[in-house]
Amino acid sequence: MMELTIQLIPTGEIILSPGKNGENYCHNCKVVASDGVRAMMESALTARDRVGVQDFVLLENYTSEAAFIENLRKRFKENLIYTYIGSVLVSVNPYKELEIYTKNHMERYRGVNFYEVSPHIYAVADNSYRSMRTERKDQCILISGESGAGKTEASKKILQYYAVTCPASEQVQTVKDRLLQSNPVLEAFGNAKTLRNDNSSRFGKYMDIQFDFKGAPVGGHIINYLLEKSRVVHQNHGERNFHIFYQLIEGGEEDLLRRLGLERNPQQYQYLVKGNCPKVSSINDRSDWKVVRKALTVIGFNEDEVEELLNIIASVLHLGNVQYGGEEGNACITSDTQIKYLARLLGVNGTVLTEALTHKKIIAKGEELMSPLNLEQASSARDALSKAVYGRTFTWLVNKINASLAYTVHTFEQFCINYCNEKLQQLFIELTLKSEQEEYEAEGITWEPVQYFNNKIICDLVEEKFKGIISILDEECLRPGDASDTTFLEKLEDTVGGHPHFVTHKLADGKTRKVMGRDEFRLLHYAGEVNYNVNGFLDKNNDLLFRNLKEVMCMSENKILTQCFDREELSDKKRPDTAATQFKASLAKLMEILMSKEPSYVRCIKPNDSKQAGRFDEVLIRHQVKYLGLMENLRVRRAGFAYRRRYEVFLQRYKSLCPDTWPNWQGKLADGVATLVKHLGYKPEEYKLGRSKIFIRFPKTLFATEDALET
Ligand code: ATP
Ligand code: MG
Repeated sequence: MMELTIQLIPTGEIILSPGKNGENYCHNCKVVASDGVRAMMESALTARDRVGVQDFVLLENYTSEAAFIENLRKRFKENLIYTYIGSVLVSVNPYKELEIYTKNHMERYRGVNFYEVSPHIYAVADNSYRSMRTERKDQCILISGESGAGKTEASKKILQYYAVTCPASEQVQTVKDRLLQSNPVLEAFGNAKTLRNDNSSRFGKYMDIQFDFKGAPVGGHIINYLLEKSRVVHQNHGERNFHIFYQLIEGGEEDLLRRLGLERNPQQYQYLVKGNCPKVSSINDRSDWKVVRKALTVIGFNEDEVEELLNIIASVLHLGNVQYGGEEGNACITSDTQIKYLARLLGVNGTVLTEALTHKKIIAKGEELMSPLNLEQASSARDALSKAVYGRTFTWLVNKINASLAYTVHTFEQFCINYCNEKLQQLFIELTLKSEQEEYEAEGITWEPVQYFNNKIICDLVEEKFKGIISILDEECLRPGDASDTTFLEKLEDTVGGHPHFVTHKLADGKTRKVMGRDEFRLLHYAGEVNYNVNGFLDKNNDLLFRNLKEVMCMSENKILTQCFDREELSDKKRPDTAATQFKASLAKLMEILMSKEPSYVRCIKPNDSKQAGRFDEVLIRHQVKYLGLMENLRVRRAGFAYRRRYEVFLQRYKSLCPDTWPNWQGKLADGVATLVKHLGYKPEEYKLGRSKIFIRFPKTLFATEDALET
C-alpha cells in the first residue's frame, strides 16, 4: 500500500560537536594534486553518457523527473550508488556488499574537497568534520529515507569513518570502541525483522559525537525516542519481536538458559510466535548473540549487570506465557510455573505479583480495595507490564551506554513518527534555502526567489496549542467521563475539520475518492496521504500502568528495575505528561539543537521492495524522489546557476585554453577568470562573477569548455 511508505522512518542523525577548548587548534587540509582533480573531473564530465552525472545540478534537463530517474538508473547500474544534488548526497541501497568502504577509500576522502572526488558518504562525513574544525561550528548529518533505504547503514559507515580517520590516543581508543560497539547492542534491543527490512530500527535515534581540540572523538551521547513497545507482545505476520529474544534463546549458553528457565525453542513463547517467523535467512541469531555479548562488555557492563539485564529479558518471555483462566469472569492464573520464575528473576514476591496480575487496586473513601480483573483486562494488564518493563529497560540501556560514552554527557506510533518527519522536512527546506540564499549574498549575486511547498501548515495542524491534534488528544485524555477514541475523532472533526490537510469519512469530498473507515482520519503529509486509525490513541497517549503493578516493580530486588521504577512515581500526585506531549517536547528540543548546527544531508533511496541487488523499481523510486523533495531541492540549486567553482579551481583547470592565462596567471584570480571566459566567448547572461567564485548558469556552457580541453 503506497500510503504507508513513509510510516516507519526512525531517523538516525549523527552530530559532531567540537570540544570546549578548541582555540589552539590548527587544521591540516590535504591539497589534492591538480592532475588528480583533472582526472576526477574528467571522469565525471566526459563519461556522463555511460555513468550519468555525479551531481544532478549538471543535468541538462534539470526539471525533468524522467531525466533525474534515468541518471539515478545509469549510476545504479554501474554500482555508483551515490550522487549529489549540490552538497546533498543521494544514496540508493545496493543490497549487496560493495568494495567502496575500505581503508583506502577512507584515505581518499580525507581532507579532500567535496567536488574533487566522486560522491561518497565518506565525503559528507569528512566535510562535516572539517567544517567543524575550521569553522568551529557544530555540525549535524541528517539521514532520511524509508524503511530499508539504508539510514542505519549510512550512519554506521560514518561512525566507522571517524573511528578510522580521526586521531586517537589510547584513551580515545576506548571512546571509539564504545561508539562502534553501541550499535550492535542498540540494534539487538531496538531492531527487529519487519516485512520491509530484516534489520529495521524500531526506535528513533539521534547520536552526538564530541571531539576535543585535536579533533579526536572524546565522547558521545545517544537520544532515543519512541521505541515501538507494542512489538514486545505482538508481531504482524512475517515479522519478529526484537532481535535480542531470539539471540538469547539461540545463542545463550546452556547453563545461562537453565538459570533463566528458558528453552532453546522460540516456538515455546507466546510473545515470539505471533509473526510465525522465528528464523530469518539473512540473520544468524547465534553469532549475533556473541557479538552483542562482547559489545556489552566493551561498553562497560559488568557481569552482574548483564545477568540482571538478561533476567529481565527472560522475564518478559515468561510473562508472555502467563495463562489466565477463572470462574465468573474473574481472572486467575492457571499455572504457577511462570510466576515462580518471574519471582526469582525479577526478585519480587510471587504472591503479590500474582495478585497484581489479576486485580486492580482502587481507593474508595480512603480505603484500598482489590477489585478483580476479568480475563481480558488481566491479559492486557500483563501485556502492559511486559511493554513497560521492556520499554523502560531499553531506556535504561541507552542511558547506560550514554554513561559509558559520557565526555563530561503505527497507528499512534506512526502518527508520532510521521510528525517527526514533517519537522525534519521543514528543517531541511528552511536550511537548504537559507544556505543557498546566504551563498548568493556572500558572493554579491542577486537572489531570485524560488517556489516551494512549505510544510509548516502540516506541522501546525499537529502541534499547534489548543487547536492542534496533539492538544485535542491530550484534552480528551484528561477529560473525565465518556472520553474515548471516538469522541477524540469527533472533536478532531469539529476543530480541524476544515483544514486542507485533514480528512475523515464524514468530511471526505469528491476529491478524496479512497474509502475511509469510520474510525480513521487522514493526514495529507508532504510525502503523501496516510490514514490513521484512532483505536488506541487515548490509551497509548496515556500510557497507563496500574498502580499496584508499579508498586510490585518498585519493590523489585533487580537493580535495573529499581532504577526504572522510581518510588517517587507512586507518591507523585501530578499526572505525568502524555506520550504525545513528551514526544512533542523532545522534538522541539531536537529541532533547537539541529537549528544551531551546520547541516549536511544524506537522502537514502531504496531501489526495490524485494531486498534484491540490481533491481531498479521505477515506481518505488519515483515516489521516494518525490517525497524526499529532491526535485524541489534541485530546483532551488538550479534556480540561478547550475555550477559554481572557486576562482582558483576554475582557473587551474581551464587556464590552458587561453594564451593569457597559460601557463600561469600572475594577476588577481578574478581578473584571470574574467580574461579566460572572455577568451572562451562566454556571453554575459551565461555567467556571473562573485567575490570568490564563478557562477555558470547552464551546464552546456561548462560542457563546451570541458570538450575544448580534450581537443
Ligand atoms: P529502518 O528505517 O527500517 O531502520 P534503514 O533505512 O535504517 O531502515 P538499513 O537497516 O540501513 O535501513 O538498511 C537495510 C538493509 O539494506 C541493510 O541491512 C543492508 O542489507 C542493506 N544496505 C543498506 N545500505 C547498504 C550499503 N551501503 N551497502 C550494502 N548494503 C546496504
Ligand atoms: Mg534503521
